[in-house]
Amino acid sequence: MSGFDESFDWVVVGSGAGSMSGALVMRQAGKSVLILEKTKFVGGTTAKSGGVMWIPNNRFMNPGEDSAEKAITYLDAVVGDDSDFPGTSHEKRLAYVNEAPKMLDFIVSQGVELERASEFWPDYYDELPGGCKTSRCVTAKYFNLKELGAWEKKVRPGFAPFPVKLDDGMKSNFRRKSKAMAKLYRDIVIRTIIGKLTFKNYTSAGAALQGRMLKASLKAGVDIRVETPVTELIVEDGKVVGVIAQQDGKTVRIGARLGVLVNAGGFAQNQAMRDKYMPGTQAAWSNTPEGDTGDLHVEVERIGGVLAQMDQMVGYQTTRAPGFDKAYVKPPAQGITGKPGAILVDQSGVRYLNEGGSYELYCQTMLERNRTVPAVPSWGIFDRRFAEDYEVAGSVIGKGVPTAWTDAGYLKQADTVEELAALIGVDPATLRGTIDRWNGFVDKGVDEDFGRGARAYDTWLGDPYLGGANPALGRIERGPFYAIEVVPGDVSTYGGIVTDSRSRVLRGDGSVIGGLYATGVSTASPMGGVYPGAGASVGPSMTFGYVAAKHAANLDNQAA
Ligand SMILES: Cc1cc2nc3c(=O)[nH]c(=O)nc-3n(C[C@H](O)[C@H](O)[C@H](O)COP(=O)(O)OP(=O)(O)OC[C@H]3O[C@@H](n4cnc5c(N)ncnc54)[C@H](O)[C@@H]3O)c2cc1C
Repeated sequence: MSGFDESFDWVVVGSGAGSMSGALVMRQAGKSVLILEKTKFVGGTTAKSGGVMWIPNNRFMNPGEDSAEKAITYLDAVVGDDSDFPGTSHEKRLAYVNEAPKMLDFIVSQGVELERASEFWPDYYDELPGGCKTSRCVTAKYFNLKELGAWEKKVRPGFAPFPVKLDDGMKSNFRRKSKAMAKLYRDIVIRTIIGKLTFKNYTSAGAALQGRMLKASLKAGVDIRVETPVTELIVEDGKVVGVIAQQDGKTVRIGARLGVLVNAGGFAQNQAMRDKYMPGTQAAWSNTPEGDTGDLHVEVERIGGVLAQMDQMVGYQTTRAPGFDKAYVKPPAQGITGKPGAILVDQSGVRYLNEGGSYELYCQTMLERNRTVPAVPSWGIFDRRFAEDYEVAGSVIGKGVPTAWTDAGYLKQADTVEELAALIGVDPATLRGTIDRWNGFVDKGVDEDFGRGARAYDTWLGDPYLGGANPALGRIERGPFYAIEVVPGDVSTYGGIVTDSRSRVLRGDGSVIGGLYATGVSTASPMGGVYPGAGASVGPSMTFGYVAAKHAANLDNQAA
């Protein structure tokens, strides 16, 4: 190779989840590694995320609780007919099932402290064969960013900068209902205060994962450069041999002897690409950071790679409460309409989905519904009891509605269902009928229309302190009644570069582009068009980054 300003064995584009799992493999094999990140922060959407990894049959599960057989049975069932989804195949899902637990063991061996996310965080389709009603989810332990020294402030900020386990943080939302949860909450507050008094800089969730991965990577000697966007892949004789990047205002050519790994995220912040591939969705509703602009989708396609599943996103229902556009994380609506005593209706006042299921399916169903009945936005409907019990966009409105909400007309409120219907432009008799039917289901403990509450996951989203037959269902009966808008926001796009089960980038004819690997949401998801469980983005990104590096370093048949 010639004409390079410098060369490494392994060059990674983007500092997402798989960038550092792969980098650690390479360093252990004695190879030089460079990670190039275009923004000023390391960590990507992964650092901003919950950092949950969906890893079947993992080291933290109890003996006999899971197996590779159960996991592949589940993935095959949940993905179903994969003929329209070139990013997935039985072989690739099997590679995931087999490699994901090994990846986890490997990063633990590199000093990255992880733990089971929860004893109870069921798969999103836990009713299917092989589905898990306990939890296949893993997270990093909370982390003191000060351990990173000069890199402390270079990790992309997370949404929960506290010494807390994500699951405990969510459970502590029930502190008004349970003494045990009130104590859990107090413990978190006390730990946070002690942390501040002792000059710690704690973070949790995705920022803890990426902080810990960064610490391990720096220790292993990985070269990481921020504010260094990759603009081109260099191809010689049909093979990728390096990248062109912008560094300190200069164009640099960097050689990659063993290969280039693309881990550059999705295109959620690129409105033009959204209009092309996912019309009707908005970058402004996305929780992804500014770097998620699909640069490498375009570049890999330019050099002969294929894009697929580009209409797929990891939808995350969102409510546009005043200030939502400036919020670091848009106010989620999953914890509103998924709670008992709230439902979602379209603009004709009709319920059309299971409010408790996966957020990806929820938003997909909203967009599908919108093709026949206006449903973007839809309306979340609830009553006074709900308003007193649960939070809406960070406020318990039964205790007082923020004035900004009333001024902006965000929260619709009326003494009767019929008056509420008039406020949201819905036929009063239709909304009344929808609510009466719902209340009937609640009394029976069975949602006969959409099966809400039949899955373990729906009950996870519900209220364990509710009592009654079904913790996911609650009557809507006491005025005032409320309505808020819900839109199909997202936490990522889910389509992209087609790769094989070794993370190699493929051409349209199925041949491999030498020297080029990809992982994460830069790729067409190995899960096809479904989201099997919490962590189905970060888990595969980490795993296929690890798989790519093992293949490129010729370690395929060895534990890394
Ligand atoms: C609030 C929130 C919570 C979430 N929770 C979870 C969860 O718990 N579990 C889960 O699985 N998923 C979760 N998700 C989704 C998940 O975070 C993302 O899908 C996933 O992190 C994407 O990871 P990645 O490795 O593909 O890339 P990313 O982590 O997005 O990293 C890609 C990096 O590439 C950089 N980049 C882009 N272009 C270039 C270029 N030209 N040159 C150099 N660098 C470039 C980007 O700036 C970015 O830093 C959540 C998302 C959000 C927003």
